[in-house]
Amino acid sequence: MLLIYDGETTADAPTPRTGGVPLVPGEFVWPRCRECDGAMQFLAHLPLDIGVVAVFFCQNDPGMCDDWDATAGANRACLFSGELTPAIVPADGETLLDAVTALRLHPADEPTEGPVLGRLGGEPDWLQGDETPDCPSCTTRMTFTAELKEGYDYASSANFGGGGRGYLFNCQPCSEAAFLWQR
Ligand SMILES: [Zn+2]
Ligand SMILES: [Zn+2]
Repeated sequence: MLLIYDGETTADAPTPRTGGVPLVPGEFVWPRCRECDGAMQFLAHLPLDIGVVAVFFCQNDPGMCDDWDATAGANRACLFSGELTPAIVPADGETLLDAVTALRLHPADEPTEGPVLGRLGGEPDWLQGDETPDCPSCTTRMTFTAELKEGYDYASSANFGGGGRGYLFNCQPCSEAAFLWQR
């Protein structure tokens, strides 16, 4: 399925989106960057068959933390299940995108209307080499979940280095998710 730009939506919409506020379980703690200790920026909310994927990466000092790397600790992808409610946003750090963008699912083999902002499933369309991560819990090669482009316009865009692309992976048995980006 393709993810198509579908205008603005509300910050706590339960539908696929970039930006806004993450929907999280009760025990959630907003992730902080292992490199700079700043609160990470919330990037995307993707409700999927396997659960809800939430993506964060560090934008406190862009280019200084290894927020492109799946294991450096400067990004975080979560796989949530159960009842989720809007997170409390930390008072410090670059935590939110400037706009909330709805993503509409559209079959990949049908003609599209509107900008394509990403894709669910299939195979990763690598800009660089294959960087499929291993699950941090069971070390199995992770399953590709989705990829995301930077965004629709300046306000709604993530910072993937200018023209980059984000990649999401999961290990469903371990409830793990991972994120990286390339350009
Ligand atoms: Zn950082
Ligand atoms: Zn695993």
